Amino acid sequence: MKHRLEHRLEHRLRQRAVFLDRDGTLVHTRHYPSRPEDLQLYNGVGPALSRIQQLGFQLVVITNQSALARGFFTVGDLECMHDHLRDCLAGWGVRLDAIYYCPHHPDGIVPKLSVRCNCRKPRPGMLLRAAKDLNISLKKSWMIGDILDDVEAGNRAGCRTLLVDLGTEPRARSPLRHPTYVARDTVHALRIIEAADGADGAGMAAETAYLPASWRLAGAVATGVDLHDD
Ligand SMILES: [Mg+2]
Ligand SMILES: [Zn+2]
Repeated sequence: MKHRLEHRLEHRLRQRAVFLDRDGTLVHTRHYPSRPEDLQLYNGVGPALSRIQQLGFQLVVITNQSALARGFFTVGDLECMHDHLRDCLAGWGVRLDAIYYCPHHPDGIVPKLSVRCNCRKPRPGMLLRAAKDLNISLKKSWMIGDILDDVEAGNRAGCRTLLVDLGTEPRARSPLRHPTYVARDTVHALRIIEAADGADGAGMAAETAYLPASWRLAGAVATGVDLHDD
């Protein structure tokens, strides 16, 4: 049993993080990318991440990689791809604090990996593990992704969530799949975090008015639903 003071200190020192989905969020969408050069950073994401890192956020990639369970490539291949991703980001002075991947899928062909797990998004397992490993406060953190499964994983973990609009996601019925904000791209998502949690909160209203076209057509809806009252 830890001393209470020690607990309190640990709590105070807890880091904030930005959790990032990989495909469609950090890098261009591709169907089961398997080679390093398949991972192509979006324009502007490097400098934007550099600013976020300077604000003191840890940067943690959270990615479903069911291709491992499906036998499309090996963990070694995945590590080569991620080395490449780290190199690309290093070119912008950005250092990833960690990359977590879920190798599972119930319909895979690799027996050991063909299971229902707690880490495949929309489940929050990877975020919860990262929080433990890296002493992260989930409440102070954000999850950014391009699909509602990312949003749900972030919400379930207790983070604020940002959906990057690639035009694929319907407006969610369930509050668990409702993002705190929607961004037109990943750079915009990172700007929202800067506005919300940076020194200058003034730009917030301008940054958070965005809604996907199909959501607007479906009628006015409350965004910025705060699932996480302090
Ligand atoms: Mg994605
Ligand atoms: Zn898993």
